Amino acid sequence: MIKTLYPSPLTPHPSPPLRLSQSQLNRLAACPRKFQHTDLEQLAAPSEPDQQERQTQGTRFHLLMQQWLLGLPVEALVQEDPQLQSWFDAFIAVAPKILTLGDDRTIWGQSEHSRTLAFEGYLLTVVYDLLLANGQQAQILDWKTYPRPQNPRYLLQNWQTRLYPFVLAETSDYDPDHIAMIYWFFESGEQAPEARRFSNAYDRSQHEQTRKDLTHLLAQLTGWLEHYQSGEPFPQVPVESKECDRCSFAIRCDRVTLQDHVSQTQSDPANVSLPKLADIQEVSL
Ligand code: SF4
Repeated sequence: MIKTLYPSPLTPHPSPPLRLSQSQLNRLAACPRKFQHTDLEQLAAPSEPDQQERQTQGTRFHLLMQQWLLGLPVEALVQEDPQLQSWFDAFIAVAPKILTLGDDRTIWGQSEHSRTLAFEGYLLTVVYDLLLANGQQAQILDWKTYPRPQNPRYLLQNWQTRLYPFVLAETSDYDPDHIAMIYWFFESGEQAPEARRFSNAYDRSQHEQTRKDLTHLLAQLTGWLEHYQSGEPFPQVPVESKECDRCSFAIRCDRVTLQDHVSQTQSDPANVSLPKLADIQEVSL
């Protein structure tokens, strides 16, 4: 009997599974229509110049950290850039604390460590800025170049905080109780550079809750995708939702008129210059 290695030209090619990152899950959870515009139709409005600048600086800092962690020289990168220098100084001040697991200095570590988990018909992808591990525990570290959010719930509910340990627990031998997700914020505004930590000790109950919530969200996505293919757009958040206030699709969605939008942004430029946490793009190297 002849085995076919490739699909016959007479049978339709199955679509490859959709890859989903934490920022896409955040968008989907915040507003399915925003996911449709951004991730299916690539309609994202161009970001403001200062937002682009922040994004570029964030990317440069991640490159700098990757280079330093590989033992490569970084002087040339920081010398001409006071902002990078300031963040890097903040990192160096706490590096001995960051780069250990408790008292254990014999650890394994890798920067820009990526993993993929096939889950409910999708490929969930994560990229850890730094993964530290020993025989007993693992820590996922993430560098942030914007100030730490005042409200810790923003981070606890963020899909990055939930997805990153979930994927590690599902693709390794580490028990959820032995995984931690740690953010380091290197931007401290006007103050002297200071790294600020936000840690979430993961556990079995969070893991199972994440599995449940992911399963539910992805089942919804499957349904919305099916309807979308027959011409029905993804659902919008309710009209009174604050989600629309700073959304770049507010005009497209008839949530604000062009005239209102112009007068809002003129009276408060922060309306266009400060993105919501969920809208801050992942830094890709
Ligand atoms: S304007 Fe509101 S409904 Fe439209 S995509 Fe943005 S958040 Fe969703």
